[in-house]
Amino acid sequence: MEGEKTFPKFDTRTITKTYARVFESGLAVLPAFIIAYLHFFQDPARRFSNPVFHEIAITAALLTSGFVGYVTWQCYQSSGEVFLRWLALGFMGFTTVYTPHGLFTRFAEDNLFLFMLYGPASRFVLSCCLLIGLFHYGKKMDPPETRKQRTFWGTGFALFIAINILVGFISTSAFGDRLFVRLFMEGGAGLLLLINISIILWRRIRSPLMLVFTISLAYFAQSSISFIVSGAWNHQWWLAHAIFASGFFYMGYGVVQAFHTTRSFSTVYSQEEMMAQLTTSQTRTQEALQQLQKVNKNLSHLATTDPLTGVSNRRHLLDRILIEISQTTRIESTFSLLAIDLDHFKDINDRYGHAVGDRVLIDFVKQVQDIIRPADLLGRMGGEEFTLLLPHTPLEGAAILAERIRQAIKNTPISVSGHTIPLTISIGAAQFGLDGENEETLLEAADKRLYHAKESGRNRVMSGAPT
Ligand code: GH3
Ligand code: MG
Ligand code: MG
Repeated sequence: MEGEKTFPKFDTRTITKTYARVFESGLAVLPAFIIAYLHFFQDPARRFSNPVFHEIAITAALLTSGFVGYVTWQCYQSSGEVFLRWLALGFMGFTTVYTPHGLFTRFAEDNLFLFMLYGPASRFVLSCCLLIGLFHYGKKMDPPETRKQRTFWGTGFALFIAINILVGFISTSAFGDRLFVRLFMEGGAGLLLLINISIILWRRIRSPLMLVFTISLAYFAQSSISFIVSGAWNHQWWLAHAIFASGFFYMGYGVVQAFHTTRSFSTVYSQEEMMAQLTTSQTRTQEALQQLQKVNKNLSHLATTDPLTGVSNRRHLLDRILIEISQTTRIESTFSLLAIDLDHFKDINDRYGHAVGDRVLIDFVKQVQDIIRPADLLGRMGGEEFTLLLPHTPLEGAAILAERIRQAIKNTPISVSGHTIPLTISIGAAQFGLDGENEETLLEAADKRLYHAKESGRNRVMSGAPT
């Protein structure tokens, strides 16, 4: 539209989202600053050579990775997410290959490589598994029967043992350039991790647990850089351990979150998504509730109404009489019933057909309803028999109304399909308390008078004896 101002999209929502992204990215690259700080301001010759401390740290790391690996395995068993299968295998590989690094701490002085090479090897193994897992991210879940396949887990474990033997062989033989092997594995691990991160960013994988995963990968990658620029036992080297441990703990935290939610990394939603889903499902519930109320109303209408004429059915009328009885104190108030029956209705059916008979019933009901008060209730007891409930009406009043109805029906012949059909009715009236003490005796009294009206020649109202 002309003249309409266009504002830049700097609303609170955009700003808060940007803040979150900046925070996440800042958190992911935080170790780089500490690495740089140590690298440029700390003498690399300064060492903290303490095997006991190293052994304790490695034991803690191994216990954690064993535990996290087990929880990951449990999550995989439960959800079948292929990504988790490789994550679990990665933890298993890391634990297996990292163990000698702790065990050989005391060999550090005799053979530095026997001690040093298992570290990068374990990170290399972990990074490989994570990359393979990432390729399977979002794919269909494994069926339950394949989740414990011995060949998969057995082969994996055998491979990790073989790597251990190979690393042991390389580090103890003068074969090849061991420094190069170390750099190759550490650099390789870092590179694989960067590929991992790039894939996540490129595929725009945004589930909250994958954010935890990505930040952990960034920590692993930075720990590899820290290891590369470090020397054994110096402060950069200890920092590298700490960075790796932080990433490891954070990834473990992600796994624990998965365990407590959907047991899968891809199906845990962000708070934003959950709020949106909640709103949708609330709307749906509301709609379903309204639908249900509508259906209930229809059902109760069906259950209480006569389908042909639309007046109350027998059951509903009897219920209303019972309510009326329970509310009526005889001294203060009373109510009456009219039993109404169409005269010679069978003849109308015989002469004009059943369909016309139906129309006569409908028309009769309409006429009655035009006369009665809103509080009065007309019910079809069956066939061409009706009962009219008249609350707060003594017998005299009921008789007057009955007479009015009788005359109205008699004076208004019914026009159906070109026929003009004269109709008369007979009515028996009865008052609660006077003619009956409960609904049964009361209806019986009204019926008896109706019968009497028929006997006496039809087209009349009976409100006196016999009862
Ligand atoms: P009376 O004056 O003694 O009441 O004679 P009547 O013919 O009205 O009484 P009867 O009980 O012998 O016949 C009632 C007739 O009402 C018989 C039945 O076919 C007819 N009927 C009952 N229900 C319906 C209905 O839903 N539609 C139509 N068209 N006829 C009905
Ligand atoms: Mg009849
Ligand atoms: Mg009848």
